[in-house]
Parts: sequence; C-alpha cells; structure tokens
Amino acid sequence: MTGLERSADFRKPGRQDRLLQEQTHDPYRYNQKLKEPTVCPECKAVVHNGHWSWAAVPEGADQQICPACQRIKDGAPAGYLTLRGEFLSLHEAEIMSLIHHHVEREQSRHPLKRIMQHQKQDGSLVITFTDAHLARGVAEAVYHAYDGALDMHYPKDEVVLHVNWSR
Ligand SMILES: [Zn+2]
Repeated sequence: MTGLERSADFRKPGRQDRLLQEQTHDPYRYNQKLKEPTVCPECKAVVHNGHWSWAAVPEGADQQICPACQRIKDGAPAGYLTLRGEFLSLHEAEIMSLIHHHVEREQSRHPLKRIMQHQKQDGSLVITFTDAHLARGVAEAVYHAYDGALDMHYPKDEVVLHVNWSR
C-alpha cells in the first residue's frame, strides 16, 4: 500500500476502523504493542520495556519475528543509499569500513537497525537498510567524513527513503 492510499482513506468518513485494522497487521510496525517477554526466533532480539533490545532472552518468552528480520525475509528495505562517483571508486574500501563501523555501533544499541545488502549497480554502490534513520545516519556520516553531494527524498507515492551520495 502506498502512503497516498493511506492518507486518502483518512478523508473518507467511516474508514477509520478499516485503517486501524490494517495497521495492526503491518508486519513492519515498530511500535506495535507486544506481549512481554517476546523474543525474535531469527536474531534473538527481545522486547524489553516496549522496545526491541539485545537483552538476555527471558525464560518462557513468546516468539515473534522482529520487524528487521521480517524485512530481510521479505526483501523489503526501509531505506536505500546509493553511492557513486570517482572518489568513491578510489576510496571504496575506506568508505565501506566507515559505513560498517557506523552500522555496528547503531546495531549494538538498536536491534532493528541493520544493513540488508550491498551490491554494485552500473558503477554505483547500492546499500539497503532495515531502518530509514539508519540509511540517513550512514549517509550523513559519509558526508561529514568525505564531503561530496547528499540528497534524500521519498519518491512520489513511496514510503521508502532514498538517499544519494556522490563525489
Ligand atoms: Zn529478528
């Protein structure tokens, strides 16, 4: 479903109930109220005080896949970062190391912030993320370290963040 359809529903009277129903079933909804304790069977993240965390797995915890693992399973990123340019090809290893360092630090605190994939596409490097804020944070870290040009947008009708960096 696109953001447009969703906001269009809001304007029609009598549709709120259906909308709420749909949101309850959104597998990527991060603030979904979960019974505690709950553990993700894939990555062992635990719901603690209403948030997914890396706490120790409590005994008798319910099992439910976390939004990050669900996105990875579905191949449905929350954010794309595309890196390109001559500077990138000359310093790719260095830039990737900065990116991985940033992601490791974020992921150690926030289980839902992960890289999904990175691949070369026509001379660009495309990295996908389970979390839009992480895509943005990584792009800003690259920009602060290496300058260049940064652009972020949600393409029309899309809820997935697209970030471009080039130098
Ligand atoms: Zn998980």
